[in-house]
Amino acid sequence: MSSYETACRYFDQASRQVGLSKNMQDLLRTPEREVKVEVAIERDNGEIATYIGYRVQHDSSRGPMKGGLRFHPEVNGDEVLALASLMTWKTALVNIPYGGAKGGISVDTSKLSQGELERVTRKFIDKIYDVIGPLKDIPAPDMGTNAQVMAWIMNQYEKYRGFNPACVTGKPLELHGADGREEATGRGVAMVTRDTLDHMKIDMTGVTVAIQGFGNVGSYTAHFLDEFGAKIVAVSDASGGIYSADGINIPKLIEYTKDTGAVKGFPETEALSNEELLTSNVTVLIPAALGGVLTKDIAKEVKARCIIEAANNPTVPEADEIFDKNGVIVVPDILANAGGVTVSYFEWVQNRQHFSWEKSRVRSELDRIMNDSFKLVWKIATDKKVSLRVAAYILGIGRVGRATVLGGI
Ligand code: NAD
Repeated sequence: MSSYETACRYFDQASRQVGLSKNMQDLLRTPEREVKVEVAIERDNGEIATYIGYRVQHDSSRGPMKGGLRFHPEVNGDEVLALASLMTWKTALVNIPYGGAKGGISVDTSKLSQGELERVTRKFIDKIYDVIGPLKDIPAPDMGTNAQVMAWIMNQYEKYRGFNPACVTGKPLELHGADGREEATGRGVAMVTRDTLDHMKIDMTGVTVAIQGFGNVGSYTAHFLDEFGAKIVAVSDASGGIYSADGINIPKLIEYTKDTGAVKGFPETEALSNEELLTSNVTVLIPAALGGVLTKDIAKEVKARCIIEAANNPTVPEADEIFDKNGVIVVPDILANAGGVTVSYFEWVQNRQHFSWEKSRVRSELDRIMNDSFKLVWKIATDKKVSLRVAAYILGIGRVGRATVLGGI
């Protein structure tokens, strides 16, 4: 099943609950615009390399479209479309005034020099600058992109449109970024994990956690869960995984990965594969890397009591059904990782007002939105006797549907 078919299946389940007509379902499911562009650069050795870039603008009924930009070899149009639709429901779920979009370039950044990465980024913006902008569509970081890439995007966009820091979020602090944006997705994941354990009446202190992915989201999730008293026993990245029954020293691991670029070989841990991590004997499992990793076969072996989807689209529908049957609580991506887009919104607000907030304000506003959204989704799930995923979609789709009807076609 393709990523978009997966996203549509979840959409269909929830829209039946919301009672959307067939016409409205078609309207909400269909993206407003899909852009596919050639991104050609001269490599350092003088050769020409050609990549394909995508930007899908899914829905703008609640405001300018918003979504990350992913640089990864597996990026394709279907996946970008699926992720763009998730952004529409996500921004509505946390009730920030945005629609949904997503973009990406099919490129392996580990094979590019810093100069080549910059040229790829700037060329992509040359190709799409007229369809993005602070009141149209605002990119942000995702897998394979970071604050530096966002700085190049702003700089390139400003060559066409003049000073415009609100055209992209996730920027460095020195260039109109928001204090607290880099940690935001991971902090939100950790807040939602704490809320979930509270509702399951499981004590946070010493609770065992496995995290797949140790990039921006995985590492900050680990940092905050460690601070909240959880015991992170397994962590992995593209190089493989590590395990320690006594708990991994997260501050030291973060320092270690800054030096080595990977978790592999971290002292006082055993090696484990990514598959072993997903099925390890823990209470909380957090996929924080790629989509589609929780397959039907893996789902049967999962021992965790709850799964917090820090990554986008990590669970295939057949696996979701198994989790439902086995009583495994799954906190869906559109709720669990919404902290990133929420603080991106705060960054955009600050850029548009030319007024910076203290980090403490960013954190407290984020915590409030995550906690309130979690409570609302949990209540819908309990009242309607549906999974948290269906409840989250009911909330998101309901808000987008009402905005669409009120605005008119
Ligand atoms: P990142 O590029 O910073 O880190 C990705 C991590 O995944 C790295 O540790 C990498 O080694 C690991 N990885 C890659 N391939 C892997 C594999 N085959 N097996 C195991 N690990 C693998 O990316 P990120 O920003 O942390 O994003 C991670 C996920 O979170 C993505 O699904 C992304 O869409 C989602 N997300 C990110 C944000 C954000 O603010 N960055 C917001 C919402 C959702």
